[in-house]
Amino acid sequence: MSDLVRKKKPATIAVHAGRAVEAHQGAVNPPVYHVSTILYPDVATMEERGTRPFEGMTYGRFGTPTTFALEEAVCALEGGYRSVAAPSGLAAITLVLESFLKHGDHVLVTDSIYHPTRRYCDGHLKANGIETTYYDPLIGAGIADLIRPNTKLVFVEAPGSLTFEIQDIPAISAAAHKRGVVVAMDNTWATPLFFKPFEKGVDLSVQAATKYIVGHADAMMGMVTCANADLWQIIKMRAAALGLGVGAEEAYLALRGLRTLPVRLERHQETAILLATWLKRRPEVLRVLHPALQDDPGHKLWRRDFSGSCGLFAFVMKTKDKKDVDAFLDALQLFGLGYSWGGFESLAIPADPGIKRTVTGWDPGGLTIRLHAGLEDADDLIADLEQAFGRI
Ligand SMILES: *Cc1c(COP(=O)(O)O)cnc(C)c1O
Repeated sequence: MSDLVRKKKPATIAVHAGRAVEAHQGAVNPPVYHVSTILYPDVATMEERGTRPFEGMTYGRFGTPTTFALEEAVCALEGGYRSVAAPSGLAAITLVLESFLKHGDHVLVTDSIYHPTRRYCDGHLKANGIETTYYDPLIGAGIADLIRPNTKLVFVEAPGSLTFEIQDIPAISAAAHKRGVVVAMDNTWATPLFFKPFEKGVDLSVQAATKYIVGHADAMMGMVTCANADLWQIIKMRAAALGLGVGAEEAYLALRGLRTLPVRLERHQETAILLATWLKRRPEVLRVLHPALQDDPGHKLWRRDFSGSCGLFAFVMKTKDKKDVDAFLDALQLFGLGYSWGGFESLAIPADPGIKRTVTGWDPGGLTIRLHAGLEDADDLIADLEQAFGRI
């Protein structure tokens, strides 16, 4: 069934991938397997299964039918060879870095990277003799000049989740592959629905499934999807070596969220564009950072490579006075003040404190607020923004 499903359109894949009703007595959803120990009927079977520990259930840490179903569904949507679940998005990212970098190696990371990823590079990788060079997210094919003999990995993320710069991923991937360098991408913003990483040259796609795949702000989960069997083997072996297993309930919740991802994302997308367009006309707003808007600097590349946009974008206030921004944020009633995003609810944060650049400047001309457009009525959200502007 799975090969048949993979050829369908994304909404159909989201509903049918990873389903094995015959294995679960007809139940539409896989049961939540709470398991550590697997029992074997005899020593011969035990020893034989030990030679292929990652096929089927051999030990709870290596996966259960619940996690296999989630991995199969995410993989089918991403269009990869096979996925590995991790306990959080950041765990999926560090798993990729751990798997491909050792003492003496070099990694290229976008300057617009999710900040905890940067912290890991500057702290843990550096302490272990692995050097990170940050690159301008607009570098494109120019990344070739930064590749050294010991460069093992390029880590891209597009758009950046605070500045929303789009990268030329096909050009970066082509330059990396010419030198035998693996390309990993944090694909959380677009989700597997709006960016097809493996068609654009990416080798490993990371999802912070905590965001849109879980979709209800009630579980943490990360996924690494691999382009081929060799990469999957490396990632799976490392996940096993590190002892990364995922919780049974969390895997179930992520799979449950994934089933409705396409319909939710359509609404997140539509509402975010409505809000962004409305914000552009406000006298208090200097700029809106949203690649789906026609005058956005990343729009052309976004149109070429992406098939949609999610609910996350930002806008720059004209004011440079933090008090104004704080007053605006404090006045919001429907937008919660909270990190993270991808749930059904609208959120807002002051973005500037999280924008940590080291090679390219970032001065958009005022203070930046990031919004997540939830599934509320768009008119109500606009009315909420309007009354909050009134408090400045
Ligand atoms: C939230 C986030 C992560 C990390 O996901 P967690 O599940 O919170 O660890 C990684 N990348 C991006 C772009 C994110 O927004």
